[in-house]
Amino acid sequence: MAAYCEVAVPVPLPDTFTYRVPPELVGQVCVGGRVVVPFRQRKLVGMVTALAEAPRVTRELKDVLEVVDLEPLLPPALEALARWLAEYYLAPPGEVYRVMLPLHAEFARSERARLRPLGAERLAALQRMESRTPGEQTEYELLLRLASGKPRHVARLARAVRDGRDWLARLRRQGLIEVVGEVRRRAAAPAVPLLFEGDWVPQSGMLVLTGAQERAVEEIEQRLAAGRFAPVLLEGVTGSGKTEVYSRAIQSSLERGRTALLLVPEIALTPAVAELFAARFGDRVAVLHSGLTPRERSTEWWRLRRGEARVAVGTRSAVFAPLENVGVIIVDEEQDTSYKQGESPRYHGRDTAVVRAKLEGAVVVLGSATPSLEASHYARTGKYGLLELESRIGGRPLATVRVVDMRAEFQETKKTALFSRALADGIQRALAGRGQVLVLLNRRGYANFLLCRKCGATVQCADCSISLTFHRARGQLICHYCGRARVPPRACEKCASEHVYFVGEGAEKVEAEVRRAFPAARLARLDRDTAAGRRRAEQILRQFVRGQLDLLVGTQMIAKGHDFQGVTLVGVVSADVLLGLPDFRAAERTFQLLTQVAGRAGRGARPGEVIVQSYYPDHYAIQLAARQDFDAFYEQELRFRRLLHYPPFTALANMVVRDRRLEAALRMTRLLQEFFQHVRRSSVRVLGPAPAPIARLKKDYRFQFLLKSSQRRALQELLRAAVAYARQKQVPPGALMVDVDPLSLM
Ligand code: ADP
Ligand code: ZN
Ligand code: ZN
Repeated sequence: MAAYCEVAVPVPLPDTFTYRVPPELVGQVCVGGRVVVPFRQRKLVGMVTALAEAPRVTRELKDVLEVVDLEPLLPPALEALARWLAEYYLAPPGEVYRVMLPLHAEFARSERARLRPLGAERLAALQRMESRTPGEQTEYELLLRLASGKPRHVARLARAVRDGRDWLARLRRQGLIEVVGEVRRRAAAPAVPLLFEGDWVPQSGMLVLTGAQERAVEEIEQRLAAGRFAPVLLEGVTGSGKTEVYSRAIQSSLERGRTALLLVPEIALTPAVAELFAARFGDRVAVLHSGLTPRERSTEWWRLRRGEARVAVGTRSAVFAPLENVGVIIVDEEQDTSYKQGESPRYHGRDTAVVRAKLEGAVVVLGSATPSLEASHYARTGKYGLLELESRIGGRPLATVRVVDMRAEFQETKKTALFSRALADGIQRALAGRGQVLVLLNRRGYANFLLCRKCGATVQCADCSISLTFHRARGQLICHYCGRARVPPRACEKCASEHVYFVGEGAEKVEAEVRRAFPAARLARLDRDTAAGRRRAEQILRQFVRGQLDLLVGTQMIAKGHDFQGVTLVGVVSADVLLGLPDFRAAERTFQLLTQVAGRAGRGARPGEVIVQSYYPDHYAIQLAARQDFDAFYEQELRFRRLLHYPPFTALANMVVRDRRLEAALRMTRLLQEFFQHVRRSSVRVLGPAPAPIARLKKDYRFQFLLKSSQRRALQELLRAAVAYARQKQVPPGALMVDVDPLSLM
């Protein structure tokens, strides 16, 4: 009988940990089941990854405290997927299980801090001081709250002072306090059915397929009938009816006794899609998204696990829906960047979907009007099947796109205006004709930054090397990377000059400008500032769909897959925002965004028009988006990628070393530099170290290595060796960030 087990705990460490199974629990612990274990003065829920009769290590081991599951929690295909994820993305197994198992609601957690003897001494010393620095004062206030010896909730303590979490971590490192964590099992949550307001879809019945849709559905059904892994790209122009194809594919999978999975980029922005599927498949659908409470999430998870729901619709992490025997997996808008998780495990939902389909013997359908270079390359080289929907439903024409050269506009008018004459006239005409208008500027805030005209300084975030963006409604300068906010200074903080000006514009300014120029128009703005919660975004979209708004201003949020029938004009205030980023995908992103937003016009009975303003009107991404010529864009972009050794021809990994102290960051960077010099591999190019494009982020100094190889295996091996070396040299796990297939190199 196994008396020891390996447990993956949700901490950023690459290993599993060995625990002893006490005699009374032997026989209950199973691989793939959860257990409660002690971990550094805390109790954590971990996943058992292996059983053993003899321990792997010789030191004294702690006991498993409680067994949560008597049988494996995950279906075998998901267990295999977890192992793939940990290996491919070099992700700690405990963190992989954490995203796979959204079951936090089953446990009550609390963390309390307590004064240690060293802390009591320090408190006495602070008390004796005649005056304290601001730092000492903060320390004093925290320690004083613990003076009675009674443990206090960490969350509450952290709120008592500024940067409370950081301070508590520091006191803990210095041995002044200790933090003890508890987990307690909660009673099972009652089933809470998901409510849909239901008016997104007046009709939810099946539609009569067009010829092109029918061919696509047939191709998918043939592959489904073969019962083997088959990846296909469904390339269909905006408004070509891809959703209906998805629905039929899901239907077919269910009819074959299998299950189905649909991934969408953001549910708040595409409530109509979720609702259509909920209406069509009723309670066989479970909807998973970030707006659910932990309790709703675990309810939905169990409905899927027990087989009560057989279709999962959701965002990125829904790729881990605990379905068995999946027949079809659909990834809508596969090029969308929200499929990539920005924190560990840094997985890509689309790529994970393809791997899962392989494990399930399923058909995976990647749908898009503007496929990623990767997907279209695979489709064109035969690795993926290619299904095309070349025209819009009802033979509706794609909108005509006009590019306005803002340099010429300035020459002619001698004014820098937000709207060119063409765009202002266009909005006027569209509103007069009772059409709806979308105005896109893909940048939040009012002004882009605050600039001193005398010395050229801008106001930067205190914690990140990034200028702050002015948000007028809040009256604050805000960091878009860490959220830190401050009041704008009246004078330059470098040279004291009073000639400080707001420069550049964001969606908030566009809104103000539209209000001024078209006071009679009913308008709303949709961006991350106005739509913080899912409800608010839905509400704005609903009003627009119902015709209660004439004009919608916003960031890329308004460009997503919405099926607006009344839009006759789309205006793009600046097509150049993304082009300026130091990113090899800048052209791709620009092309995709422009094509997507143009696709919102002319979806109803009336034709659409698009006006795009740019200072680089000749850029190929802008020109080809204006012609909506994906093939030409793809050819040209692919040439660059091949020439410059970028995906899809080359596998990339980004490695960032970070620390609050510059010297520590430099020291660890040098360590890795030496490693890469010694362990040279001819098949892998290592660029760097160099300061990361955002050299300081959330107080950390950052240096980066970029690894490139045409052989993924060689790249993975070198990465793994580098990580192992860093550990051996005592580099703390949190100081090394590894991003495989990065979408952003910032
Ligand atoms: P896409 O996702 O390709 O941009 P949608 O799936 O949103 O396009 O479809 C565009 C519009 O066409 C929707 O209003 C949808 O209801 C409608 N539609 C799709 N298929 C059909 C069909 N076979 N017959 C009639 N209308 C359809
Ligand atoms: Zn100045
Ligand atoms: Zn910041």
